[in-house]
Amino acid sequence: MDHASVLVIGGGIGGLTAAIALRQKGFEVEVIEKDPDWAVYGVGILQQANVIRAMSQLGLFEDYVGAGFCFDAVEIYAPTGQHLSTIQSPRVLADYPPNIGISRRALHKVLGERTLASGAKVRLGVTAAQWQDDGDGVTVQFSDGSSGRFDLVIGADGLSSQTRQQLFADAPQPEFTGQGVWRYNFPRPPELVNLHNYVGPRGIGLAPLSQTLMYMFLTTPEPGNPRFERAGLAAAMRARLANPPPALAPLVEQITDDAEVVYRPLDWLFLTGDWHKGRVVLLGDAIHATTPHLGQGAGMAIEDSVVLAEELARAATPQAAFVAYRARRFERCRWLVEASRSICYSQLGIGPPQDHATVARDMLALTSQAI
Ligand SMILES: Cc1cc2nc3c(=O)[nH]c(=O)nc-3n(C[C@H](O)[C@H](O)[C@H](O)COP(=O)(O)OP(=O)(O)OC[C@H]3O[C@@H](n4cnc5c(N)ncnc54)[C@H](O)[C@@H]3O)c2cc1C
Repeated sequence: MDHASVLVIGGGIGGLTAAIALRQKGFEVEVIEKDPDWAVYGVGILQQANVIRAMSQLGLFEDYVGAGFCFDAVEIYAPTGQHLSTIQSPRVLADYPPNIGISRRALHKVLGERTLASGAKVRLGVTAAQWQDDGDGVTVQFSDGSSGRFDLVIGADGLSSQTRQQLFADAPQPEFTGQGVWRYNFPRPPELVNLHNYVGPRGIGLAPLSQTLMYMFLTTPEPGNPRFERAGLAAAMRARLANPPPALAPLVEQITDDAEVVYRPLDWLFLTGDWHKGRVVLLGDAIHATTPHLGQGAGMAIEDSVVLAEELARAATPQAAFVAYRARRFERCRWLVEASRSICYSQLGIGPPQDHATVARDMLALTSQAI
């Protein structure tokens, strides 16, 4: 498979890490991204030691850790604001910090710059209108009228993946869990050096993202999967924070800018069937989208990229690589999607009670294993 040409559909976390991993192995890579502005919304993301390990394998440790904020513990608070405990994160991987918070824009900058520096071609505002896999290669007609021929194609086009729908018309669709997440950025006060979690029926977290930035996330039941207009989002988030823990009241008052509120319904998806057909394979949220209760969604996409590039570099055919890739990723990703969803359903009262800290410990034990 030396020097094979690869089209990556989607320039998000999974697509860019795939491009970087494949360039490391000497593949020719073209990335197409449908968003002409290649924009990413402004709040943050939390990741653990296994993701820092995978980013190191991509040669990104310094850039990534330098752009984020590493932390060692989770402070647990009652809904009333009373501090209950400090849970030190176990050092499951001695060489790496246990946790990092990073703004999505900072992560995108690190990945985008490295992708371009690696020699991958990136085209924005472009999708794959049609493709035909004739067994020897894939001919792709792009939405801008151009066309290309590739040895293989990676669909890293996220939860609503068009590539998945084209490959597997009968594949399951993303399923709404009943919960949504509201997020907002604030300046980070110097004393906020760990993740602060307010437990209870409405989950509130404060997470450091950089020396200057932190963000709040708020998990709420959202029956009926409502859609919200941008106008009024700040008031809607404040309304869900009525009677906040006293220490958070001044922050709640600062949630005033509709444009800065990021609301997302929480969906899940896991493909139990094949992850590839012929010379086209899927990666990241396109096959396994998890709720964020354990972090790890983007982490799984990043690990997918490392593993897929390794398998492609050593296999004689794309199909052999795709089968080996799925075999290495399947159980880990399935466990994460199901464990994370079980916390979500427990919080909603529609599944058996789960102790978040215990499930998080199990997650760390699993993800610290080699990928
Ligand atoms: C509320 C929330 C909080 C989260 N928090 C965390 C967290 O703390 N930690 C964590 O690890 N994960 C978290 N995640 C999960 C994480 O965001 C995803 O797992 C991750 O973004 C998946 O990456 P991806 O590249 O597969 O998909 P995406 O990030 O969705 O990227 C897909 C890309 O493909 C592009 N695209 C789509 N269709 C096409 C097309 N037809 N042609 C070309 N381009 C296309 C899109 O524009 C996008 O750029 C969270 C998710 C949610 C919803």
